[in-house]
Formats: sequence, structure tokens, C-alpha cells
Amino acid sequence: MLDALARPYDLVVRAEWVLLEGGFTAAEVAVRDGRIVRIAPRNRGGEHLQAERVVELADDEVLLPGLVDTHVHVNEPGRTEWEGFDSATRAAAHGGVTTIVDMPLNSVPATVSVAALEEKRRVAADQVRVDVGFWGGVVPGNLDELRPMVDAGVFGFKCFLLHSGVDEFPEVTPDEMEAAMRVIAEADSLLIVHAEDGHVIDAAPHAHGPEYAGFLASRPRAAEDAAIAEVIERARRTGARAHIVHLSSADSLPQIAAAKADGVRLTVETCPHYLTLRAEDVPNGATAFKCCPPIREDDNRDALWQGLEDGLIDLVVSDHSPSTPEMKYAGDGDFGQAWGGIASLQIGLPLMWTEAHRRGIPLERVVHWMSAAPADLVGLRDKGRIRVGGAADFVVFAPEETFTVDAAALAHRHPITPYDGRELEGVVRRTLLSGAPIDDARGQGRLLRRGS
Ligand code: ZN
Repeated sequence: MLDALARPYDLVVRAEWVLLEGGFTAAEVAVRDGRIVRIAPRNRGGEHLQAERVVELADDEVLLPGLVDTHVHVNEPGRTEWEGFDSATRAAAHGGVTTIVDMPLNSVPATVSVAALEEKRRVAADQVRVDVGFWGGVVPGNLDELRPMVDAGVFGFKCFLLHSGVDEFPEVTPDEMEAAMRVIAEADSLLIVHAEDGHVIDAAPHAHGPEYAGFLASRPRAAEDAAIAEVIERARRTGARAHIVHLSSADSLPQIAAAKADGVRLTVETCPHYLTLRAEDVPNGATAFKCCPPIREDDNRDALWQGLEDGLIDLVVSDHSPSTPEMKYAGDGDFGQAWGGIASLQIGLPLMWTEAHRRGIPLERVVHWMSAAPADLVGLRDKGRIRVGGAADFVVFAPEETFTVDAAALAHRHPITPYDGRELEGVVRRTLLSGAPIDDARGQGRLLRRGS
């Protein structure tokens, strides 16, 4: 016992600015066996905590919890030419993201059965640089697979209410969604929904050609608003936990507020592209900006920020969804033909910080939306916060340093992002996973199971 107590810590990080639950504090954070075991006030000139390795942050650096991104499309196996566990988790590590949860679609097979989940785990196992969890999928006819997938450790289930973009992951009807919600409520799991209504979109003008305004008109706010109303109604009826992914239409904020006030178990996410980009600025033919639902107008963007500040939107995640250049530029600038998906996993924090700073929103709120809040969504109690007992996942961030995004220098597979050439504030200098610097040369992440 005495020996164990006398043993030095594996790591101590000392910094003037450590983001703890109460805000930024000068502190020393001690780590043993990958966990935070002690946090002490920084004692300048006095006794320090002793460790085998000491990291002393520079004056312009702050220590943040590792970010948690619960919306990443890794696409492996099956579409590894779009992205993969190797490149996606390298991009995550470079961006300060120490945990991702992989979406069930765009990989082949889609994660709609235990067998598909096990196959994904097999291919991911030796190549992940950060911790990786998995979503399952709800598609027509796989109701009997949901409970076994919960038992196998998925963090919840995704469904679509309109065509998903890939044929092997079909959408469900509202009634099928409700049936899934009943199973999911019983299993104490979570349903996350791509909420756009196919009927509203079918009735809207068809997207074609290089004009962004045409694409925007093809995916109206009303399509999201109608689908979100359906999710709220079914969640209310079943008592299931439901989550709206990538909210773009700020017109839905009043019904979200009302549902939350009524006690419906509803959470909502949005993404950096809806908060930092504006439809008015998207150049015609620039299909790097295409995503569904779309980037909307400036007034909508302001309202989404207000929704975040008011707590109606709970969290911010990337919806990193890359594809090959052939798909992203299909049709040579035709918004009807190009793949819809934005690649931004590595630069989420500087994107959010640049815009938040401009709006007078403090860094600690941004970090909450990108770490503790997504960790809470999926029940990862030891992630997303710097506290005793938590995982020693850290980001060393220099909030005042600026840089220019170079798509070719980002670690995801293809050098495409709508942010290419943008000047951003805040540089991720280092990322630590379980108390160790992430090594680009090898995988050191773990595959996570819910409840373990
Ligand atoms: Zn997505």
C-alpha cells in the first residue's frame, strides 16, 4: 500500500489555464494508468506533484479535455476509398478529438446487425489512434437486431426519414420509427434521427445546376420542421430518448423548446458548417459546400447560435462525411449530382472558436458543446471533462495563434473541405489520449462499448 502511494505519477501536466468543471484555473493534473488521479492548485515556487513525465504548458497554451465527436462517417469497410479508420482517426487526433462515434452508414455492410458491427470492429481494431465507439442503424425489417446490438455495445441507433443517399441504408416510415423507439426505450438506448421529410422535399424544386440558391430551395426549412415534429410526437408517445442530428433549420427551435419544456426526452446537435458558413457566401459550383440539410442564410445562422446559447441545441459535432473527389465534384459543379457531405473533423475546434470569439462567447462554452455535452449524449461518463477519475484525454490549445486552412495538409483521406484557405483562430498543438501523446505511426485507441 505504501509503495503504491509513494509511486510517482506517470504524468503531471502543469498549466496556468486548465479547464476544470468550474472554469479555467491554474492547476497541476496528475495521471496514473491513463486516468486523472489528482488535481492540485498550481503552486508556483513551492512543492510540485512529482511524475515520471512532466508537461509544462507554454504561456499561450490552455489545457482542455479531449473533444468527443459523436457524428463521424468513417465509411470503412466497403467505402474505404472515401475515408477509413486510419485517416479519420489521424485527422481526429490532429484536431484534439480523442473520442469518435462512427455512423452506421456509408460503410458496407451498414451497421444494422451484430454481424456487421463485429466486422467493423475487426477492421478498425489495429488502426485507430483515438477511442472509437459505434452507432447501430434502424432500417426496415431489422427490429429484431436492435436488442442484440445494444447488448453488443452500440451507443444507440440512427434512422432516416427520407432517402439516406446510399441504397443499402433505406429510410423508415414514422410508424416504423415509432416501433423502433419502443424497443429502444425498453433497452434504455437512444434513437438519433436524420430529420428531413421526403414528401416536402419531393414537392420542392428539384436541385440541379451550379447555383447554390437552387440547391438551397430544394431542401427547404419546412422539410426539417415537419420531420422534427414527427420525431417529437413519436418520442412523446413512446417515452424514448430521441436526438436530432445536424439541425440546420432554426425555424424548428420553438417546437424544440416546447418539447423540452414538456419533458419529451429530446436532445439536438448542430455542426460547425451551419454555424460558421452562410448560403450568401457559397460560390456557384462550389460543391465542397454541399451537405444535407444545407447550409442556410445568415439570419438562420444567427438564430442557431442563439439556440445554442439558450440551451435548446445541446451540442456541436462535425458530421464529417467525406467522399472521393470524383463523387464530390461529380457533374463539375452541379449541386444535383455532387455527393452531399462536409469534411471538417480536424478543424472543428478552431472553426467554432473563431466564430464564437467574434460573437463574444467564451472558450469554455465552446468546449462544453464539443466535449462534455456529446460525452453525456452517449453516456461516456469518464470522457469530456477534466476531473478526478476521468480519462486523461487532453488537448493543448493555443487560442490566440492563427493559421490558414490548407485542405492538402489535413489528415483525412482526400484534400477537400469548404474551409480551404480560411484563416482561423486557435491551434491544436498537442493531443493526449489516456495520458500519452498520440503517435501518428501506430494505433493506440480503444474500441468502446456502451456501458463498459
Ligand atoms: Zn451524418
